[in-house]
Amino acid sequence: MARIIGGVAASHTPAIGFAYDQHKQHDPSLGPIFQAFAPVQDWFREKRPDAIVYIFNDHVTSFFFDHYSAFTLGIGDEYPVADEGGGARDLPAVKGDPRLAAHIATSLVTDEFDLSYFQDKPLDHGFFSPMSVLLDRPGGQWPARIVPLQVGVLQYPIPTAARCFKLGQALRRAIESYPADIDVAVVATGGLSHQVHGEGAGFNNPEWDRQFLDAITDDPAALSRMTHAEYARLGGFEGAEVIMWLVMRGALADRVRQVHSAYYLPSMTGIATLVLENEAAALPDAAAASERHRARMAEQLDGIEELAGTYPFDIARSVKGYRINKFLHDLVTPEHRARFLDEPETAFKEAGLSPEEQELIRGRDWPGMIRYGVIFFMLEKLAAVLGVSNLHVYAAMRGETLEEFLQTRNTPATYSVAGKQEE
Ligand code: FE
Repeated sequence: MARIIGGVAASHTPAIGFAYDQHKQHDPSLGPIFQAFAPVQDWFREKRPDAIVYIFNDHVTSFFFDHYSAFTLGIGDEYPVADEGGGARDLPAVKGDPRLAAHIATSLVTDEFDLSYFQDKPLDHGFFSPMSVLLDRPGGQWPARIVPLQVGVLQYPIPTAARCFKLGQALRRAIESYPADIDVAVVATGGLSHQVHGEGAGFNNPEWDRQFLDAITDDPAALSRMTHAEYARLGGFEGAEVIMWLVMRGALADRVRQVHSAYYLPSMTGIATLVLENEAAALPDAAAASERHRARMAEQLDGIEELAGTYPFDIARSVKGYRINKFLHDLVTPEHRARFLDEPETAFKEAGLSPEEQELIRGRDWPGMIRYGVIFFMLEKLAAVLGVSNLHVYAAMRGETLEEFLQTRNTPATYSVAGKQEE
């Protein structure tokens, strides 16, 4: 069974990334940032977690207001560094952990936390600014797999502090019921006190920041009762993102010990680092509780395998079939559609499709695509582009001719999702 070995929290700010990339370790004003992070680095060197659940917020870099979500779990294989306007920082991508992510997703949904999911998105300084000073990269690679959890804290209404704390408690159950024998650390980033917009820009409150570090350790329930306005009054409007720390804290035991804490205010944002470890060992019946929880997690799709010819589209299929689904989804744009029709082989190569994926599309292998992990709604787009009806696809998936399949319908009509037919 997976073990939570501790919780880490750290501020995130572009200043951290700047200080690291510009080698400011011995700079009188930026050097103390590294002193705050060094003991956390040591902790990671000693504990060597296999995986890290990493709670952060994006700064409207990869998550824009065309679709803004409260809690968005990363399910992908890999996450590169985002370009925030001046080119991406020179750091390797982090590896994801799709299997752990799928388990966490199912567990949280079972506990009635319905999430959004993302993959194929770069992560911004909310993730990478502390990351670059938290963990060494032996051999140029990050030493642990990451399951990122992005919290939408920028467009109100945002989750309450209480909701973040409860999500953390559910996250603990999710991690501790994961059947692999791995060590997991929970990291949260954000804050501390700062405001970066309006006439209130430049607000800080080091006294509150220090109180917050004690309260998150000893009395998180009290912090979970505070409103966003109370956080903003004490720590600046953008400082209210510290509610993300409550997700990390909720994933730990009620009683924890503070292994490390540091605070430094270089410019705009109070920079803090914190390491907490559980005070009590796991209860003797924890394994039985996890067993019951996993049974509840399995309930919703229990028996689905008995439905012949049915392929539930789940996180595993979504990750495996991402490239080919994306290629087919792109057919909704006229340029991509034209490229596919005029030069399919070039389009396949540009999209990086594997030989197997290329052959599935080239051969119009409708049942093969479904079995591979393409969702039906991409097939109907491909059909529309090819001038083929939905009914043709249904028939092909059943291994029938169009005529045979139409005889099973009340109406012999054919149709597709093609809007205006292009000339
Ligand atoms: Fe932030």
